[in-house]
Amino acid sequence: MDHGALAAGLLAWYDENAREMPWRVGPASRKAGITADPYRIWMSEVMLQQTTVAAVKTYFERFTHLWPTVQDLAAADDTHVMGEWAGLGYYARARNLLKCARAVVADHGGVFPTDRKSLLALPGIGPYTASAVASIAFDLPETVVDGNVERVMSRLHDVHEPLPLSKPQLTELAERTTPKNRAGDYAQAIMDLGATVCTPKSPHCDICPWSAPCLARKNGTAADLPKKVPKAIKPTRKGFAYVAQTPSGAWVMERRPDKGLLGGMLGWPGSPWEETAQEAPPFAADWAEVGEIKHTFTHFHLFLRVMVANAVANAPEHAVTLGANEFQPSDLPTVMRKVFDVAQVHFDD
Ligand code: SF4
Repeated sequence: MDHGALAAGLLAWYDENAREMPWRVGPASRKAGITADPYRIWMSEVMLQQTTVAAVKTYFERFTHLWPTVQDLAAADDTHVMGEWAGLGYYARARNLLKCARAVVADHGGVFPTDRKSLLALPGIGPYTASAVASIAFDLPETVVDGNVERVMSRLHDVHEPLPLSKPQLTELAERTTPKNRAGDYAQAIMDLGATVCTPKSPHCDICPWSAPCLARKNGTAADLPKKVPKAIKPTRKGFAYVAQTPSGAWVMERRPDKGLLGGMLGWPGSPWEETAQEAPPFAADWAEVGEIKHTFTHFHLFLRVMVANAVANAPEHAVTLGANEFQPSDLPTVMRKVFDVAQVHFDD
């Protein structure tokens, strides 16, 4: 395939069809010499890891409103940032967001490094994010390879080897097509193509700029690609969550340890999450079971039985007690909010 022609065709399509994003400098603006802000590109890419564009937009606007520069974010209060992140999931990203902002300020004078190697050395920046920031913010010819790009490449070249075995081949094909000029626009163009045209189900080959060279379209295999090695079935874990109020109406909570799942987030005390649920009340009270929630994490399904207790007077000292005025369900990670939704009807206003 003529890789130069492929890139040119995709860029011409992007010039007409680029999606608008709050962090994006569109092709016309770029041609007029406006460059992207590395801080905004980095933040959007961290938020977009494992999360859809639609879900990220409001979080991105809120974060950049609260903390318009990397210096502002570096100086932010950890609890405030974790609270604002609540609901976006994968909370290690929020902790790394803060660590990275602080490293950029402490080690790079508040200016994001431009080369991929230095970007990779920053907390929470993996190969994909480093390439995305280097290409989109600095227009360097780095190649972004995510699930979208793998899908498009597997179809364009009709690659039938299943993922993840085909990753090296798909990465090499993606690298060959990345142009030296307009690398940032190209990276965004291929993301847009994967999201809007070469979609997982029913790709829109009739309006695709790569319709002519695409081998999967020619061979009628597009809808079957990329092939994937079957996933292992997710295990199930079970546990108890305990929701209590003090006589003054404060909620008895705990902050989870910094390391591990939901690290640093506020939540309800509970038992370990294991194959069978074992009761583990955090303190003696008249606990009553009121329901169960299900939540699915990346690697397992979780069932939590919800226990409630009213007017407890013996909350342990290490507990975090939040008065009704300070408590915001939206500050909780989704699994803990689900627990609250089941529990709250059993308490007085
Ligand atoms: Fe995807 Fe169809 Fe375009 Fe091929 S022609 S890249 S299958 S949308």
